[in-house]
Amino acid sequence: MLAQLGEEAKLLAGGQSLIPLMKLRLANPRHLVDLNFVSGTSYIKEESGALRFGALTRHAEIENSAVAAKVPIIHDCAAGIADVQIRNRGTIGGSVAEADPSGDWATVLLTQNAEVHCLGPKGERTVPFSKFITDAYTTLLGHDELVREIVVKLPPKNSGGAYLGFKRTAPVYPTASVAVQLSMDGDVCKDAAIAMGCVGLTAIKATEAESALRGQKISDKLIATAAEAARAASDPQSDMRGSAEYKRALVGALVKRGLEIAMRRAREERVEVSHIYA
Ligand SMILES: Cc1cc2nc3c(=O)[nH]c(=O)nc-3n(C[C@H](O)[C@H](O)[C@H](O)COP(=O)(O)OP(=O)(O)OC[C@H]3O[C@@H](n4cnc5c(N)ncnc54)[C@H](O)[C@@H]3O)c2cc1C
Repeated sequence: MLAQLGEEAKLLAGGQSLIPLMKLRLANPRHLVDLNFVSGTSYIKEESGALRFGALTRHAEIENSAVAAKVPIIHDCAAGIADVQIRNRGTIGGSVAEADPSGDWATVLLTQNAEVHCLGPKGERTVPFSKFITDAYTTLLGHDELVREIVVKLPPKNSGGAYLGFKRTAPVYPTASVAVQLSMDGDVCKDAAIAMGCVGLTAIKATEAESALRGQKISDKLIATAAEAARAASDPQSDMRGSAEYKRALVGALVKRGLEIAMRRAREERVEVSHIYA
């Protein structure tokens, strides 16, 4: 249908980004192609060492899924998005396709070994998540392509992750957010992935902070070094959520907390995480 209707057609998933944009007349599609009637598009499966999410899977379904909870950072993310109403309607596929710089999924998926399976008239293609979002509100998708599935490889043993956002109230996007995934060998960090949300045009990888951690024994001093490197790599804008300087300081603090929780989870400690409210 997208190919037939051309560029004036838009897909409708949960409608939690598209409908507000249409109400504000910032989007004015001539046709809506409603995915909600397509069966078999909402599922959470564990298969061949990976979690597979159908594009129409709601945030709330992921929040309440025991399968998804096998990767705790995925649960942190789903449970922290906006409020119950939005989580009941909004979908993981719609979120990644929207590529909102403040969206939660992109920040988390950037720290995972994740892929997007895209489907169009020419067939299916698989894109590493790190390449999928190219700019604010922009992805690699053609106008006649859709997100069919998101695949997240299960992290290796002795890995732990955490996702933390700092928010003014539940039904708003975070002021800043941080996702951390660590692979540990005792006290030594074998591998680290850190991404920051709401502090750039897309989610940003804190590559210098990751390099500082890799191969090192984790100490308070090293955590402070990594937090400072992440703070320096953030590129926020001042807006009604806070000044750029405030958001940079926030990112540093979230990286520190995220690393501490990720290390505890890597030791198989059960740690509940929720966003921090102002
Ligand atoms: C008040 C409010 C607060 C919110 N707070 C947060 C928050 O804190 N964190 C957060 O992450 N999100 C937040 N959201 C957004 C919410 O998570 C949305 O659900 C999400 O961004 C879009 O998903 P959707 O399924 O609603 O997509 P839709 O609104 O239906 O679609 C969004 C865009 O993606 C396209 N699209 C949809 N599905 C596909 C697909 N399968 N393939 C290709 N393109 C597709 C549509 O054409 C459209 O352009 C909030 C929304 C509201 C209204």
